Amino acid sequence: MSSQRTALTPQSLIRSEIQALHAYHVPPSSGLIKLDAMENPYSLPEVVCAEIAALVADAAINRYPDAGAHSLKEAIRKVTQLPAGMEVLLGNGSDEIIQILAMAVAKPNAVLLSVEPSFVMYKMIAAFCGLRYVGVPLASDFSLDLPATLAAIEREQPALIFLAYPNNPTGNRFDAEAVQAILQAAPGLVVVDEAYYAFASDSFIPQLAHFDNLLVMRTYSKLGMAGLRVGFLAGSSAWLSQLEKLRLPYNVGVLPQLVAAKLLQHHDVLLAQAEWIKQERTRLMSALGAMRGVTAYPSEANFILFRVANATQVFDGLKQRGVLIKNLNGGHPALADCLRVTVGTAAENKRFIAALDDLINPLA
Ligand SMILES: *Cc1c(COP(=O)(O)O)cnc(C)c1O
Repeated sequence: MSSQRTALTPQSLIRSEIQALHAYHVPPSSGLIKLDAMENPYSLPEVVCAEIAALVADAAINRYPDAGAHSLKEAIRKVTQLPAGMEVLLGNGSDEIIQILAMAVAKPNAVLLSVEPSFVMYKMIAAFCGLRYVGVPLASDFSLDLPATLAAIEREQPALIFLAYPNNPTGNRFDAEAVQAILQAAPGLVVVDEAYYAFASDSFIPQLAHFDNLLVMRTYSKLGMAGLRVGFLAGSSAWLSQLEKLRLPYNVGVLPQLVAAKLLQHHDVLLAQAEWIKQERTRLMSALGAMRGVTAYPSEANFILFRVANATQVFDGLKQRGVLIKNLNGGHPALADCLRVTVGTAAENKRFIAALDDLINPLA
């Protein structure tokens, strides 16, 4: 009887660590040049769009998707040089894969360890799943602090370690030998998150054959499919067959399966776009580097982290001038006065640089 129980409120029922969270914030971007979310700015060639339209017209959206997503997995295997015997697990974006991994290891007192600053979802999902989160600070140049990381691994015995390679939001790629030292020291799984693999000069996929506690996670979001929500985890079937049990049966829909498989048939088109983005990144980097009052950090991703004297003022000023980037000021202390700009098209980057120059050196 409702009259006999104490008043039910969200505060009385919802776990306190969930109440303490802030929902992931996505700012409105309509009418703005959108350089805030690491999206590929280029559209697809008309012939590819026509192929997609034909596929979608014929798609059996009255049916549940192929629960095993065989065609999409086949397409992923074709474009990814997986070592022999390695399997693929699909996620509704790689965010969902982080969650599957966290759920799988969430024994009482289990620890999820990462470095800071890094991708915020590692910490958030640890809270979702009741894992204790440990964040090891990066060195001041955003490289791995290997002694501190190894000491934290020894002390905390993490079930799960996430390393973004290259790292978000700092853009740098960690030293491969330092990552290998972490793999050797870790008592649990190490997930190398290669969300930015298309823009980077190294990958841990070949290392899957050498470390039995290594899993490599990738997403196609940054390569031009952010709207489809397709990510994957690569590793041995010993791990993946357990994780498969936690994957909801129809987590990747009919249309994302079809369209992503089609786009991977045109992987060359996407890689050519990634190449343009890398060239634009070089131009953007030298423009930022030449600007007085700006410190830009080296990037192997499709974005650049930079520091100015008054980040929030600059962020607001850019928005007033029609350019939306990401303000990291007020988040992690190591990111005080830092901003992150996604590499856009040549025209978008020019608009951004002109607006930034106008704000920082108004009298020049
Ligand atoms: C963007 C990003 C992801 C998440 O990508 P999805 O869109 O969920 O596939 C994961 N890790 C890092 C480091 C990212 O930057």
